[in-house]
Amino acid sequence: MALSPEVQAQLEEQKKHCVFCKIIAGEMKSFPIYKDAVMTGMLDINPAVKGHALFMPLEHYPILSFLPPETFAHLFGKLPTLVKSLKTAMVVPGATAFIANGGAAGQQSPHFLMHLFPRERWDGLSLSGGKGQKTDLSGFWKSLNAVMTEHFSRNPGGSVKTSETYEDDLVQGSAPDNPWGKGHVVLSIPGKEFDQLDENASRRLFTVASYASSILFESLQAHGTNLILHTGESEDNDSGFRLHLLPRWQDDGLLLSWKPLAQKPDLEAIKSKLRDEFFVVEHTPPPIKRKEEDTGDKLKKILEKQSPDSEIERAISEARK
Ligand SMILES: [Zn+2]
Repeated sequence: MALSPEVQAQLEEQKKHCVFCKIIAGEMKSFPIYKDAVMTGMLDINPAVKGHALFMPLEHYPILSFLPPETFAHLFGKLPTLVKSLKTAMVVPGATAFIANGGAAGQQSPHFLMHLFPRERWDGLSLSGGKGQKTDLSGFWKSLNAVMTEHFSRNPGGSVKTSETYEDDLVQGSAPDNPWGKGHVVLSIPGKEFDQLDENASRRLFTVASYASSILFESLQAHGTNLILHTGESEDNDSGFRLHLLPRWQDDGLLLSWKPLAQKPDLEAIKSKLRDEFFVVEHTPPPIKRKEEDTGDKLKKILEKQSPDSEIERAISEARK
């Protein structure tokens, strides 16, 4: 992404103080469980559940939309295997992946990262939000359909079906009957478990998710966004998987956070258990670089009105009304 000199300078300043950049540079101690050419994984030192892990790009990016296409494709292509390995190592039926974009969404580190929680019933963790009002999202769905149609015209490999909400040949999106908050949207791939998805399916899911959360953010003028994937059985999910997209506002009162376990588990022991399991993932060859699954850049351009005549521009401005 082409950044202005001011933003570039801010980023450089942020990097200097970033704990995770220091850990990645080997200047601070951590409990590493995974590393490849693009990303690294480590235990959260204040875990909410046993096996609570953090995965992040080696490079410093502040939020999801800053990730270059290759990094995005790598991270989300690997995610199903990481989830599977985490479940196997911790012997649990479910997992949650949690992404926060912005302080209002609970982002605490300036380095983009993803929390991975092993999940099971009665684990004391609840990441399901509260009770929200239904929002009229017709403008949003229109924009998402337009943006994804445009995406598939540039990047063949999928197609958008005509729908009141969102449906392509793989991913479905809808607003839940009981939304957690304003603008809550759920994406899924019917009949599939998340850890059975291949790399391309997972990338597609997160490509739609990334566009959708940017459009929600823009059209509802939110302060941040959460992407929360619940897969398998837990307090927050019965079966299958759901990827929840949630625009967030400062003081919106949603309880989407966690407390560290009162008694810190043996992190060294968990580290070696996870390392054994992740070793295989780590040493599978990296995916072929795919240019097509771009997300942030193109959408930013669209949102920055660089194509004022296009259908998309019109759809986006309609969504803002
Ligand atoms: Zn950093």
